[in-house]
Amino acid sequence: MSKILEVENLATYFHTFKGVVKSVDRISFSMEEGEVLGVVGESGGGKSVTGFSIIRLIDPPGEITADYVLFDGENLMEKSEKEMNQIRGDKITMIFQDPMTSLNPVYTIERQIAEVLKLHQPGITKAQCRARGIELLKEVGIPNAEERIKCYPHQFSGGMRQRVVIAIALAGSPKLIIADEPTTALDVTIQAQVLQLMKRLVSEKGCALMLITHDLAVVSEITDRVNVMYCGHIVESAPTRELIEKPLHPYTRGLLASIPGSGAVREDERLEVIPGMVPNMFDLPKGCKFAPRCAACMEVCREREPETITVSPGRQVACHLCGKGEEDA
Ligand code: SF4
Repeated sequence: MSKILEVENLATYFHTFKGVVKSVDRISFSMEEGEVLGVVGESGGGKSVTGFSIIRLIDPPGEITADYVLFDGENLMEKSEKEMNQIRGDKITMIFQDPMTSLNPVYTIERQIAEVLKLHQPGITKAQCRARGIELLKEVGIPNAEERIKCYPHQFSGGMRQRVVIAIALAGSPKLIIADEPTTALDVTIQAQVLQLMKRLVSEKGCALMLITHDLAVVSEITDRVNVMYCGHIVESAPTRELIEKPLHPYTRGLLASIPGSGAVREDERLEVIPGMVPNMFDLPKGCKFAPRCAACMEVCREREPETITVSPGRQVACHLCGKGEEDA
């Protein structure tokens, strides 16, 4: 498999009157074609900003820099705005948390699918748009698609609306889908259905999926690999099974221990919480950003930021404990 995305030293800083917020701070990672990558962490960790930065949807006072963001072999950092507009919605699409904010309430689903199709296939006819729209709605499991395509967003349930958004995301020819908390607004049973649908579709179409979520339980269901983010840094990156079975970074352990019924917690045990709060982004600790909340914190942690080290193929961690040997951790 070849790489569809290679990100090197991506940084997104917001220059405000109060100071600089380093929402994403020199992160590097890559994705294979067809891979499902989970990006997890608490709010403020930089997950969503990473997604927006890849497709360059950050406005001033935000500033994106990177050595490169190679998508399908081309550096997105060197593309003009016009070129980026051609890529967005066609080769790279995004799915957001709340389908009602993605869909226009005053247009029918047919019109909204047609808009995307016409943008990337200028010669397409109205009949072709309708046929393709119906096909897409069927693909995402919307019954009676021939009739439902004429409906407005408010005539669908939350789960069905998110299916419509997924159909629109597939209307181009995406090689990468960035889904930002796509199931957070849905109830648990619908959440599972939508996740399984996304997994099936990316596998059938061979496109890669970046699934941004705060929920490690969601990640464990459908991803191949996980990046754990904290304060703009990737603190751990590993194949999903390895990360769930043997988390190395104290933050990842804390996230896992706080999942109800995760197996990491016995029935008679109280659920653990990660103490404290994400630090103020205007006033980050000097060394490890997790130090104020970490039970394993050592003196060196407060002084020096841990480097990212590769502990085994495909597995990286940024923690001073791992430099000492993970078994001590
Ligand atoms: Fe905890 Fe130190 Fe590792 Fe940071 S570097 S996570 S403070 S042990």
